[in-house]
Amino acid sequence: MTVGDTKPLEVAVVGAGITGLTLAAALRRAGIGVVVYEKTNAFGDIGAGIQLAPNAVRLLHRLGLADALAAVSVRSTAIEIRDGHTGRVRDLISLDDCENRYGAPYYLLTRFDLHTLLASQLPNDVVQLGKACVSVTESDAVVQCRFADGTGAEADVLIGADGIRSAVRGARMDDRPDYSGYSVYRGLVDANGLPISFTEPRSVIWTGTDRHFVCYPVAGGRMVNFVATVSAQAWGAESWSEPGEVDDVLDAFADWDSLRPLIEAAGTVTRWGLHVREDGLDWTTDRTALAGDAAHPMLPFTAQGAGQGIEDAVALTAALTRHGDNVPLALQAYEQARRPRAVKVQTLSRDMARTFHSNATEPQQHPEARLASDSLDWLFNHDAEAL
Ligand SMILES: Cc1cc2nc3c(=O)[nH]c(=O)nc-3n(C[C@H](O)[C@H](O)[C@H](O)COP(=O)(O)OP(=O)(O)OC[C@H]3O[C@@H](n4cnc5c(N)ncnc54)[C@H](O)[C@@H]3O)c2cc1C
Repeated sequence: MTVGDTKPLEVAVVGAGITGLTLAAALRRAGIGVVVYEKTNAFGDIGAGIQLAPNAVRLLHRLGLADALAAVSVRSTAIEIRDGHTGRVRDLISLDDCENRYGAPYYLLTRFDLHTLLASQLPNDVVQLGKACVSVTESDAVVQCRFADGTGAEADVLIGADGIRSAVRGARMDDRPDYSGYSVYRGLVDANGLPISFTEPRSVIWTGTDRHFVCYPVAGGRMVNFVATVSAQAWGAESWSEPGEVDDVLDAFADWDSLRPLIEAAGTVTRWGLHVREDGLDWTTDRTALAGDAAHPMLPFTAQGAGQGIEDAVALTAALTRHGDNVPLALQAYEQARRPRAVKVQTLSRDMARTFHSNATEPQQHPEARLASDSLDWLFNHDAEAL
């Protein structure tokens, strides 16, 4: 891939999260030069799980990751929505036919395993650690980035994949994400000795007024991940995450008896304030683009944030491959293809909070597989590579 048929295209990516690493892997596969600049000095394990739906898994398969992904994931057979008080099933989405229907499974895994797997695709010199982007300047021909350590970098294109508090976004607009009114406790528990209801290969969502609780097995079934969401007026902490107390989770879900064995088994939990941004700022200029949470942070209630970042990465690569000699055109094509879909998923994620936190206690008379109803086809069948 060349710029004006003279020199190879060089892309700088700010942020080595799931979006940035997927983008680097996809660009390298397409023969496009890439360097990723990451502010942390080492990758850490935040001890949390992630669900990856077939719209994202299919794209990772195309990057040659099918076997490696299968080796660290649990293949989910269903998404089950239960009443928190009674435990009765309110809704059931079968994923038994997922591979036939969508060309890829629905996976449950740890974020650390996914991150490690993506990083392993890249030669060591592609990701530069300890590089916190502090400013971005753009001219007709190049884009430059300065880092907190006084160094800088120059590229033909710069992608801000630096998360919800994106510095690349901040270089264009001084806005702050808003607290959503929800905070979450996250726990990762040894599956050994837990009731089978927590270890079956499925995501279970316990719902009720002002709170919900999601759990699923990860790490090949050896661990169970949970995310307990509560409505909370304000998020006072400076940081977006802090240590939480297991007793607080037990208190918040005290009347949902079935959950007690799982919560009690957690030695530690972390507490996170969920933040959001309204869609407003354009994602692209002539030589920069935002991707992943930097472009479209969303509430985690459709389990699609990372999936949408993976879609962005593949769409950006397709756009730069197709229009590499005209970077502004490539970035416009990317934004046109991606923004309406990401905003639709953002909106759905916000609406799901209302569904999960409703006080409907009546189970469906005949809970039946919903996948057959086409209700999720638009989400799971989408091919982000086809611009
Ligand atoms: C409780 C919870 C559960 C979730 N569950 C799911 C799920 O099941 N499925 C799913 O698909 N999604 C889920 N998500 C959403 C998902 O975690 C995010 O959408 C995804 O991690 C975003 O990835 P990213 O790479 O865009 O951003 P990030 O993960 O935020 O990565 C950004 C990277 O940029 C780096 N960085 C930041 N600033 C700078 C700078 N100035 N210079 C250089 N580097 C910088 C950061 O250190 C980081 O490495 C969940 C989110 C939450 C909160």
